Amino acid sequence: MAADPNCIFCKIVAGEIPCFKLFEDAETLAFMDINPVHDGHALVIPKAHSANVFEITPEDFAAAARTATKMAKAINAAVKPDGINLMQANGEGAGQSVGHFHLHIVPRRNDDGLLFNWDPKPGDRGHIAAVAARIREFL
Ligand code: AMP
Ligand code: ZN
Repeated sequence: MAADPNCIFCKIVAGEIPCFKLFEDAETLAFMDINPVHDGHALVIPKAHSANVFEITPEDFAAAARTATKMAKAINAAVKPDGINLMQANGEGAGQSVGHFHLHIVPRRNDDGLLFNWDPKPGDRGHIAAVAARIREFL
C-alpha cells in the first residue's frame, strides 16, 4: 500500500522525521522505540504502509519477521536481557497506538513486572473446541 501522509512511521520511512535506525533492507526498517520498556526496545516495520495484521500482506509480514529474527539476536547480544518478547498490537483494545504495522522487540528483565504475561489456567476443552470450530469457518 502507498505511504499514508498522516502516518508517523511512513514519515520515518521517508526520512521526514528522524529515528535511531538499526537496520534497513528493501522491505523493512528497524529502529529504537523512543519510549523504551528497557534498553534495546526496538521496532521492526514493513516500509509499505498497512495498519495492522488484518491489512498486511503475507509477504510484508514475512519480511518483518525475517528482520525481527536478525534484530532479536543483535539486541540479545548487545544488552543481554533475561529474555525477549516479540509483541504486536492490532487495534485500540490490544493497545495499538500507531496505525502502521510494527513488531516490538522487548528485552525483558526478571521481575520487571510487565503485565503482558498471564497466568496459564486450564480452559474448558469443550469450549476451546467450539471456538476452534467457529474460527475454522472463516479460513
Ligand atoms: P503500539 O502502542 O504497539 O502501537 O506501539 C507504538 C510504539 O511506537 C510505542 O512503543 C511508541 O513508543 C513508539 N513510537 C511512537 N512514535 C515513535 C517515534 N517517532 N520513534 C520511535 N518510536 C515511536
Ligand atoms: Zn504508515
